[in-house]
Amino acid sequence: MHLFVQKGMGCEPFKFDHFEFKTGVVCEICGHSLKNVYYVKSADGRLFSVGADCIRKTVDFSLKRELEVAIVTEKKAYETKRIQRAIDILGANDSREELKKQLAPDPWRAQIGVNG
Ligand SMILES: [Zn+2]
Repeated sequence: MHLFVQKGMGCEPFKFDHFEFKTGVVCEICGHSLKNVYYVKSADGRLFSVGADCIRKTVDFSLKRELEVAIVTEKKAYETKRIQRAIDILGANDSREELKKQLAPDPWRAQIGVNG
């Protein structure tokens, strides 16, 4: 029996719905707190939050494939945001000051120009 059916999350087939990066959400299968939150919808319309590890524990290869596609899509979106942010900083009038802030998150180190 499907792990999610055993846990009372509804009927098969389960489909990946969407991804969110946020805190304060728990996996509805195991109870662990999540940052990378995957929302899965059951055939009977129940939407629930679940971690990637619990999706990987299932024998649901279709859902696992959807998870891996979602992970790749999110990584690409994250990298695109980072690249755009760097382009924006480099295009700013005072880009050297902005870059110093990026390289040294510690304000004291940024002030004296030490990176890392
Ligand atoms: Zn879990």
